[in-house]
Amino acid sequence: MSMPAAADLPRHQMLIEGKWVDANGGEWFPTDNPFLGKPWAMIARGDNADVDRAIAAAAAAFRGPWRKMSASERGAILRRFGDLVAQNADRLGEIETRDNGKLITEMRGQLRYIPQWFYYFGGLADKIEGRVIPIDKPGVFNFTREEPIGVVAAITPWNSPLMLATWKLAPALAAGNTIVWKPSEFSSASALAFGELFEQAGFPPGVVNIVTGFGSEIGEALVTDPRVAKVAFTGGDATGEQVYGLAARGIKPVTLELGGKSANIVFDDADIPNAIRGVVSGIFAATGQTCIAGSRLLVQRSIHDQVVDGLLALARTAQMGDPLSDATQIGPVTTPGQYRKVLDYIDIARGEGASCVIGGAAATRPECGSGWFVEPTIFTDVKQSMRIAQEEVFGPVLAVIPFEDEEEAIGIANDTQFGLAAGVWTQSIRRALTASERLEAGTVWVNTYRAVSYMSPFGGYKRSGVGRENGMSAIRGYLQEKSVWIDLNGEAPNPFVMR
Ligand code: NAD
Repeated sequence: MSMPAAADLPRHQMLIEGKWVDANGGEWFPTDNPFLGKPWAMIARGDNADVDRAIAAAAAAFRGPWRKMSASERGAILRRFGDLVAQNADRLGEIETRDNGKLITEMRGQLRYIPQWFYYFGGLADKIEGRVIPIDKPGVFNFTREEPIGVVAAITPWNSPLMLATWKLAPALAAGNTIVWKPSEFSSASALAFGELFEQAGFPPGVVNIVTGFGSEIGEALVTDPRVAKVAFTGGDATGEQVYGLAARGIKPVTLELGGKSANIVFDDADIPNAIRGVVSGIFAATGQTCIAGSRLLVQRSIHDQVVDGLLALARTAQMGDPLSDATQIGPVTTPGQYRKVLDYIDIARGEGASCVIGGAAATRPECGSGWFVEPTIFTDVKQSMRIAQEEVFGPVLAVIPFEDEEEAIGIANDTQFGLAAGVWTQSIRRALTASERLEAGTVWVNTYRAVSYMSPFGGYKRSGVGRENGMSAIRGYLQEKSVWIDLNGEAPNPFVMR
């Protein structure tokens, strides 16, 4: 297949201080269409000078127009932005699918849902209140103020690009902060299309800046700049660890949303057809490229074969192909690196002695074209000690582990370094409640899987992250509390003794 010349591809500039600009060095990099396996657009390749310009713009906007606006005015702008996203949802969803290869049915659905975050947090903007504290010292008035932190660096991954950015931008902006956003180098196009709507919504220039480029090249400059007051990151745990270390140099608060190895636990009293559908939605939907992938199936031994047979039947009928088609159920893997990583993990699992009962190879069906497709893959006979049971694959690969009883199921589920999510399939209310208490995960779904909302907190236990996104408390991650003391006594006490 002939490659289009870079010069013929559409070019996407960065957004700094409300202006569309080339990278300081004049460099560009290609972004690929994972279904076609070739570049479809060129993105400005930012360097540290671009990061510097963007931070300066965000810092000026924080001190200037954004800070001076009332919270109600800020909220109204957020809600207007939500309306604009709603009007452009299908177009933005299509850009995401072209760029990251995820199903149009999923990306369009996400884009139609995203406005709710801007409505919800826009509504919250003018409901952030301090407290008057009945302080224990006579003649002293003490109250608190909730203040924005300043410039927030938002760093986002490629798998649900605009949804995960929204989880940061909506609360951070509602709280009165300004933003420098670095989207993934594999999914910058939709971020830049989103960027066009900021000005239309009425955000003053510099409130949201988008710097595109490679994390390895500009990430450190962004995270360590002293003008950046908070870092909100979603990505892999290894990168998260690095970002946490960089932020620690400046004693900066962080929100980290990292990876997972989530367990879907099917008990013998479950509604089995529903459980099978839930397990499939946890691992084969989105080609397994979701942080909350239910990549471990823990199944009670008495129903092991029945559940595995049901999974095989569903996996066999899953339609692979063009992610832009509404009929497709499994699309390509997003990047060549990720494609190789998934195939490597399949080899590792075989080498460790797990049994591959379906898939286990690159997909070469005609409907997969020249994209980076992997067959939906299921391993049985998986042991807890195997890497396939412990490490995040981020692909359509399911590890099946049998268990005898509830005690063993909870033990296996918690025996990983991660703690992002878990699924429990049971008809017993006792089991549902005890399991949801004992599972070490930020989200537990009972008789459902992969549900999220702007209203409910999301985040990880253990190595899956720090802090929470979504829900009312998420806004606290973008505020700092100040205590103000006013002495009404009119006479200065002994200066050598603490008051
Ligand atoms: P990644 O860690 O490779 O990259 C994430 C972002 O970090 C990108 O924008 C990248 O450019 C940037 N980056 C890379 N090196 C950096 C550095 N040194 N300093 C600063 N920034 C740097 O992740 P990815 O491959 O884009 O995304 C997949 C991962 O994200 C998976 O592990 C997945 O589990 C995780 N994820 C987590 C959640 C969640 O909410 N918990 C959601 C989606 C994805």
